Amino acid sequence: MIEIPRQKPKFRFAPSPNGPLHLGHALSAILNHDMAARAGGDFLLRIEDIDQTRCTPDFEAGIYADLSWLGLRWQEPVRRQSEHFPAYQQALETLVDRGLVYPAFLTRGEVKARVAAFEADGKSWPRDPDGTPLYPPDDRERGNAERQRLLASGVKHAWRLDMEKALAVAGEPLCWRESGDGEKGLIAADAASWGDVVLSRSDAPSSYHLSVVVDDAVQGITHVVRGLDLFHATSIHRLLQTLLGLPEPLYHHHRLLLGSDGRKLSKSMGDTGIAEWRRQGLSPTELRRRIGL
Ligand code: GLU
Repeated sequence: MIEIPRQKPKFRFAPSPNGPLHLGHALSAILNHDMAARAGGDFLLRIEDIDQTRCTPDFEAGIYADLSWLGLRWQEPVRRQSEHFPAYQQALETLVDRGLVYPAFLTRGEVKARVAAFEADGKSWPRDPDGTPLYPPDDRERGNAERQRLLASGVKHAWRLDMEKALAVAGEPLCWRESGDGEKGLIAADAASWGDVVLSRSDAPSSYHLSVVVDDAVQGITHVVRGLDLFHATSIHRLLQTLLGLPEPLYHHHRLLLGSDGRKLSKSMGDTGIAEWRRQGLSPTELRRRIGL
């Protein structure tokens, strides 16, 4: 019988070095690490440092120190997004060439004012699954001559996906395979609910959505294990993977840890930082128990 080579399972933990890691990150990193070990696969680390205004070398060093203290080992080299801007730019250009993205000139303040004026009448402006108002249609509907004039004038702009066009080009309804702590099985993607998502900002050369799909493909990630807060974003990732001809990983969105106020942990909550636990002399085993592992 012919042996069909099986793709080696690859998992990744992908933190942003914009604050100290908290217990929720510990849960995510340990789950990835342990699932990779059980599957006989690799555990990779990716530093998501696109936002150069908020990411610092100190926070990055803290990530390595915390993960090492937890007893996790990852495959080298670590992929740092700030070293791969041309790869994201190339992916963006593919979409520009196919007319699937457009330059977006409205500032955050202008969008906010537009939404506020609309809602002053008691109507509600449509929002994405994270509660952010959808981007107004002005720039999408702008004529080509006007678009070229604005681009030539050097005015700051982002690039946004023309969602309707993108969905039409992607064709068949998209879905993903999910094995996490929420809904499981074959999940129908609903990228339309996000509107014209931003793929590159005027102050950063890529967006989370664009770089995450490029990196998962480049790193050969077969299993994406991350928090349930990114469950709905997977719809956008499946759409971008389809448009860019990238492979589809399996997804596992795990439970989120909540603070004592019942809210999702955040990096500003120093008391739940891994480093703080370490300083207080707690052991990695105690930490694992505390987060229900
Ligand atoms: N960088 C993201 C975060 O820190 C995680 C992205 C992902 O796992 O897809 O929340």
